[in-house]
Amino acid sequence: MDDVRRVLKQFWGFDSFRPLQEQSIRTILEGRDSLTVLPTGAGKSICFQAPALCNGLHGNKGSGAGDLAVVVSPLISLMKDQVDALKQKGIAAAFVNSTQDETEKRDVADRIRQGDLRLLYLAPERLLSPKTLGFLRQQQCVRYFAIDEAHCVSQWGHDFRPEYQELKTLKQVFPDAFVHAFTATASEPVRRDIARQLGLSEPSFLVGSFDRPNLTYRMMRAGQKMQQIMDVANRHRGESGIVYCLSRREVDTTTQALRTLGLRAKPYHAGMTGPQRKANQDSFMQGRCDIMVATIAFGMGIDKPDIRFVIHAGMPKSVEHYQQESGRAGRDGLDSECVLLHSPRDFQVWKDIMHGEGGQVALQSLQAMFELCNGITCRHKAIVEYFGQDYGVMRCGACDVCLGELELHDDSADISRTVLS
Ligand code: ADP
Ligand code: MG
Repeated sequence: MDDVRRVLKQFWGFDSFRPLQEQSIRTILEGRDSLTVLPTGAGKSICFQAPALCNGLHGNKGSGAGDLAVVVSPLISLMKDQVDALKQKGIAAAFVNSTQDETEKRDVADRIRQGDLRLLYLAPERLLSPKTLGFLRQQQCVRYFAIDEAHCVSQWGHDFRPEYQELKTLKQVFPDAFVHAFTATASEPVRRDIARQLGLSEPSFLVGSFDRPNLTYRMMRAGQKMQQIMDVANRHRGESGIVYCLSRREVDTTTQALRTLGLRAKPYHAGMTGPQRKANQDSFMQGRCDIMVATIAFGMGIDKPDIRFVIHAGMPKSVEHYQQESGRAGRDGLDSECVLLHSPRDFQVWKDIMHGEGGQVALQSLQAMFELCNGITCRHKAIVEYFGQDYGVMRCGACDVCLGELELHDDSADISRTVLS
């Protein structure tokens, strides 16, 4: 068996790659900057984790660089989950962040000196601190940098983080190391902007299909909203799911309502303390509670493979957000359901929240999301085409439109007039 497949089998137990994973891994092994775009749940982590375990990497080029992969990840919670999962597989991975004391940090530094660490997770601001940069340079240990959630580097993306922009210094400070970016945001201008912002040199662009065939999309007008949510949750009794609400208040009332049905639901929003949020997230991840009722503060990088349903209690502010959030369902490839409840008001609510911020791009995304909800085109087709790809299937068999469930409302003409004015 060749090295790449051996690593996949030995550490992850998988027999085959998902689309583009193998190309992405081989590009890293070849030593060429790259940008891999795959939808949420497609399996981007393995693309930057596996190469660090392949022998091919060590014999690769006589550049003097070492064999450590540095993963840049925006959230501390996300880092810990990924590193814990890697350690469980027997992979030498670690992170350094503000939750650790000096001894723990020194420990990681020692392991880097001794060369027995394969993957190091850091937030951008820590990586770019003069101390960390100096240390990594002196050790000559870095083979490549993997920038996860790389759309954060682009002001045109949907989650811009200023600290990500400083990552362009990596190519200057480490001329021998390669930089590989990963994101689920597909639009072509954002892709090019990411490559430019990171200073990638002749990058290989790997862009996957944006369709998630195992997800059934249903987008319906909110009526008796609580009842609609309870109906969906009830038919998934005992299964894992997420309910996204637009406000903290709605999170609390929805959690209560689901509990009265005897469903194991817990809340998650920014108004709770850190430890409360963490306790609820852990309980969801470990299957002690089934339903996470949350604001969009919940979920980035959440890797729970068996989420069977995602309900949106209101319209998200962009198709990108919808793709990310609904995409958390069905990561294991099994059939899952995504239900979006929207009301004509949602558009105006978002417009008021955005008020000037984000400008034209944000408004266009909002408009596109509105059209997706109110449209009568196959949902799979509409989403895939939004991301600039062709959708060849005639009837997906997995959305309310193609399944003939759509209810038309007489006032839809009025709504679009309001929106467009
Ligand atoms: P992304 O970062 O693209 O959203 P993740 O890296 O979190 O996705 O992976 C999503 C899920 O897919 C994980 O549960 C992972 O174990 C699983 N997965 C990844 N690659 C494969 C594969 N080749 N075969 C089966 N499952 C896979
Ligand atoms: Mg990811």
